[in-house]
Amino acid sequence: MNGVHTYAFPGTGVPSRLECGLSLAVNGPMRPWADGDNRARLFRSLGIDPSSVAALSQIHSRIVRVAESAEPFAVNGSSMDDHPQGDGLLTANDAVVPTVTVADCMPLWLYDPEARWYGVLHSGWRGTGILRTAVELAADEWGAKPENIRVIMGPHIRSCCYTVDEERADYFRRAFGPDCVRLDPDRSAAGDSRPWRLSLAEANRHLAGELGILEEHLRDTGECTACNTLFGSNRREGADSFTRMVAWIRWR
Ligand SMILES: [Zn+2]
Repeated sequence: MNGVHTYAFPGTGVPSRLECGLSLAVNGPMRPWADGDNRARLFRSLGIDPSSVAALSQIHSRIVRVAESAEPFAVNGSSMDDHPQGDGLLTANDAVVPTVTVADCMPLWLYDPEARWYGVLHSGWRGTGILRTAVELAADEWGAKPENIRVIMGPHIRSCCYTVDEERADYFRRAFGPDCVRLDPDRSAAGDSRPWRLSLAEANRHLAGELGILEEHLRDTGECTACNTLFGSNRREGADSFTRMVAWIRWR
């Protein structure tokens, strides 16, 4: 459908009405301000009213905001400098379409069928932990209970392609458990400066468990943005001109 990928939440019973979507490289770059024409074309093809789209000025943070309506988060008519900053948007308003952009960072889609809210997060290495902010915010706002929350971990750079140095590996091991990093024996023997393989999925799986999200409510799409040329990838395409994709969530 329109050259995009869509994903369904596990264990909801009504997976088809709440759509988690991701544009692909073929749709072109989707930066909120710089790529307005691409975004408008995509949203038109999907039947998404541009005035329902909510976006943030992303800063690789763990800041999550509640969108009671789309208007304060609308890109059209706003400037990036004055726009609300952050990396996650939650809403309980069925008319709002929260979005983030990603290219190797992980999109995390969230849905709580009991407290009736949903959202999407941008979680790269700096932002890993934003899932905690989102779950705590939803508890404050809507009385959300972790055992009701469904999570999809979307396409991102996987441990097959994501190598990091000792310092970053150590940070992740301490913060998100020992399973998220693995020493690559070949890279280590060759004296490579980035001998560790980092799994953002394992880090988030560990965090989700700590937060009380149930294993059966956590889905991992399994796709690697750096391996698979369907996706935009900072690592594969290069920092100067990589294809940021837009991740959205909406009621259909
Ligand atoms: Zn890969």
